[in-house]
Amino acid sequence: MKDGLPSNIVKTVTTAIDNANEELRTINLQIWNNPEVMFEEFKAADLLSSWFESKSWTVKRGVYGIETAFEARFSVREGGRTVCYNAEYDALPGIGHACGHNLIATSTLASAIGVAAVMQEKQIPGTLVVMGTPAEETGGGKWIMANHGAWKDCDVCLMTHGMSSFSTPLFISKASWKFRAKFHGKGSHAAGAPWDGRNACDAIVHAYNGLALLRQHIGKDESIQGVILEAGKAPNVIPDYAEGGYSIRAKNSKGLYALKERIVPIFEGAAAATGCTVEVFWDALYEDVLSNRTLAERYRSYMLTELGLAAEDMISIDESLVKHAQNGSSDHGNCTYITPGIQALFSIKAEDMPHTPAFREAAGKDFGHAEALRAGKANALIGLEVMLNDAFYQSVRAEWESSMKEAGRL
Ligand SMILES: [Zn+2]
Ligand SMILES: [Zn+2]
Repeated sequence: MKDGLPSNIVKTVTTAIDNANEELRTINLQIWNNPEVMFEEFKAADLLSSWFESKSWTVKRGVYGIETAFEARFSVREGGRTVCYNAEYDALPGIGHACGHNLIATSTLASAIGVAAVMQEKQIPGTLVVMGTPAEETGGGKWIMANHGAWKDCDVCLMTHGMSSFSTPLFISKASWKFRAKFHGKGSHAAGAPWDGRNACDAIVHAYNGLALLRQHIGKDESIQGVILEAGKAPNVIPDYAEGGYSIRAKNSKGLYALKERIVPIFEGAAAATGCTVEVFWDALYEDVLSNRTLAERYRSYMLTELGLAAEDMISIDESLVKHAQNGSSDHGNCTYITPGIQALFSIKAEDMPHTPAFREAAGKDFGHAEALRAGKANALIGLEVMLNDAFYQSVRAEWESSMKEAGRL
């Protein structure tokens, strides 16, 4: 098969998605109107799982270690490739769907409708998977799911995300890792017998200063943030306990592991210097999104040639790499270290960044919904090309293997 899908397949995809527009708008608004935070996305998970069940997909609820995760599968014939789309649906505490994950769920549903319609019409062998992935904002839902074996049989993993004012097939994110440090000392009377105490407040301040000194000598695209959460209760008692919360980021997971190696000794040193002990608890690792350029180029090409997006609304990949690099992170990155993928961004014309009230309002509007569908169509088309075009998939895979080798992961 030549590059690009035949026009009758493109037509089947766009028609099937357009015909489902009202149904999708209702689901979108139902999620947007009922924001649920990490690990509590019961209504959204039920809504989406029930929808797939109503379309006779095979649905498993509460999968891969999370009660509000689900996996929906659809096959027409045996064999073929497995194409996965992730659906996020968690909201932020206190501010609702200010990251627009209702639009991600909608966009993924649209892709599922488009791909399934073609699979059915053309009797294409292959498996279509929709993975319901909770707790992206915090909690590292996909990190947990990956640790339980998710995405292992998927040949690609695709998703989309709303953005304030630009669209790009490449989400250029950072790898990030949160951790907590707990220092244990020995309490004593601060005036009466300080020599008997071991000061956990001193230890955590020492660690804080150590991090502050390290900051001058880390990479330009790396960062270290931290706060002291607890460091004693009263000035006349030597604190026997102190705790801090920290977040580190780097350009990619390889850089993040290297940064971690420089950070751990600071905590051990602070404990040793003050006669305390320390325990460091590493939270979910959000890997950088290993964006697959072959998939991204094709996504862009469908957007411009088949789906009516103006060229100025999606600059070239090379320009995007320079202009659209983000400091944020997504646990979709974890999926892209298991199998090739992209996370395409689509503009919802919000007046402010994600995680603001203005973004939440835009995420509920018709414009954002229409763009979620357009992104869902482009992702459906590249998913179908993965199923149908061997040469295309081989280049996707070859690029991914070379990125993985460069990252020291293959
Ligand atoms: Zn967010
Ligand atoms: Zn988000």
